[in-house]
Amino acid sequence: MLWPWQKKPVSPQDYIADRQRDLPPIYYKADGGQQLFAGLTLRLPPDVRKLYESGVIAGGEVGEMAAEARMKELDGGKYAIEFFSGLMRLFYSCSRIIGARSTVHTRPPTKDASGTLVEPPDSVVKPSVTDADSAQLMAMLFRGYQRTGIAGVQEFPIHAEQMRIADMFAREAEIFIIAHESGHAWKRASRKPISIDPGTNEEIVADALAGTWFLEHLANPAPGLSPRMMYAGSEMALRIFSSMERIGIKFCGTHPPAGKRLEAFRALARKLCPSEADYMSLSTIAMASDQLWDHVEAILMAQNGEVAAVELTPDWLESTLIVLVQETLSATMTLGSAVEEAQSIIKDASEPVAVEATRRVRGFFAAQPAAAAILENLLSSTSKGT
Ligand SMILES: [Zn+2]
Repeated sequence: MLWPWQKKPVSPQDYIADRQRDLPPIYYKADGGQQLFAGLTLRLPPDVRKLYESGVIAGGEVGEMAAEARMKELDGGKYAIEFFSGLMRLFYSCSRIIGARSTVHTRPPTKDASGTLVEPPDSVVKPSVTDADSAQLMAMLFRGYQRTGIAGVQEFPIHAEQMRIADMFAREAEIFIIAHESGHAWKRASRKPISIDPGTNEEIVADALAGTWFLEHLANPAPGLSPRMMYAGSEMALRIFSSMERIGIKFCGTHPPAGKRLEAFRALARKLCPSEADYMSLSTIAMASDQLWDHVEAILMAQNGEVAAVELTPDWLESTLIVLVQETLSATMTLGSAVEEAQSIIKDASEPVAVEATRRVRGFFAAQPAAAAILENLLSSTSKGT
């Protein structure tokens, strides 16, 4: 037998291997999650990546069914990050709903004989679930989790292209959570001063570190990285936590509330983007699910007997109109479908929201005549906000 002082400190790799022996990984069976963590290190700045390369931090999937991830500080200034299978499962269930409600264009429009852009036949995958049904499905998923402690399997049909989108969302959400846990570890390991208010809550600091590392890719993303997708996955993770808090489920004793974390995360991203146009471009994919999440939270609150008002926000309307114009401009969408889409979303907005969003989008495209012309085309189809 060895006396305690004769024992060598456990390395994070050994710690994770031990945990995985007791609780084998469920989703990353082949490598225990090494590929997932490699995906993170690809996104990290060199000084943080070094902590992984030198074995100061290591992590992997642990087959616990609770929806959690945690960082454990080991002796000798080493850190182990455990990603529980239950949180992966929760992310997969949610992202499947987000994928299924997406419209996917499998090929860009082509020009017909007269030179007009048309959608090639069978190139558009329509949503497999309506917006209203997807909000209900998500709310049911969270209620089910509340009852059983496990995210239910989602059985509704989904197209392979939508599933591909779902997988990207889930993967980026996972990577954001590992980055968050790495943020806790990095802060302790490096003891470097950080440019975040000293009084800020630890959870918000860890989110901010993850966000700052990711957004370093904005100007010059490494091959295969999409800052938009990274941002959308991060928001999805925070949105899931914030929805589930509505029904009293806490994550890692989160305090402050996840809703505050989302707010702080958005404010940080806005600040780190060189311009409003950059933020709009970064948040496009995330914003496409914004209404869904508001709707889910409203359903959950209504079930609690609380009153929730779901209203289209100027942020969302602004972002959506910008996307419609840009997609028309880059010919990934026909003007006809853009007009139709613009009509249907503006119809649902209140007059003040439509007015505010229209004002912002006009400002946004003020210096781009071609885009401004498309915008006026979209707006001419409706009397609201113009
Ligand atoms: Zn944390």
